[in-house]
Amino acid sequence: MSLAVPERINEKYCRNPFCSRTLQGIIMAEESIFIKIMKGDIPADLVYQDDHCICVKDINPQAPTHVLIVPRKPIQRLADASAADKMLLGHLMLKAGDIARLLGVEEAFRIVINNGEGAGQTVFHLHLHLLADKTFSENSLGLN
Ligand code: AMP
Repeated sequence: MSLAVPERINEKYCRNPFCSRTLQGIIMAEESIFIKIMKGDIPADLVYQDDHCICVKDINPQAPTHVLIVPRKPIQRLADASAADKMLLGHLMLKAGDIARLLGVEEAFRIVINNGEGAGQTVFHLHLHLLADKTFSENSLGLN
């Protein structure tokens, strides 16, 4: 599997039929910051992308390695995913492992999904935080 990244995030995907369908959904949905990144409207430090997700460096990192894995489909929260998203959710988890390997942190990383304001979610477009290169307490699921 190639992890090559096109120069512009949208260069490849806006022209393919899968993406046209995806973008239609995107246009109808409220535009999250991640949609703006996918459309190329705001810059981001892209780590990986494929037909189903993008991975960008977090703008306000909570660990030396902190990236976000974001599905192209604009699901607001994990709790809003449905059975139809089963393959997509599996894809995101598998990509987390691939991206950890790509970044050289596959031996120790933490995946966090904040679901809802009360859990600290600030961007209402499902995303996985991948954090690494810091000491995580085995007794705490918190980030510190
Ligand atoms: P959450 O609080 O779980 O919704 O996570 C949202 C994350 O998005 C935060 O860690 C932010 O630092 C990050 N973020 C917000 N805007 C950007 C951006 N333009 N590029 C990259 N990361 C961002």
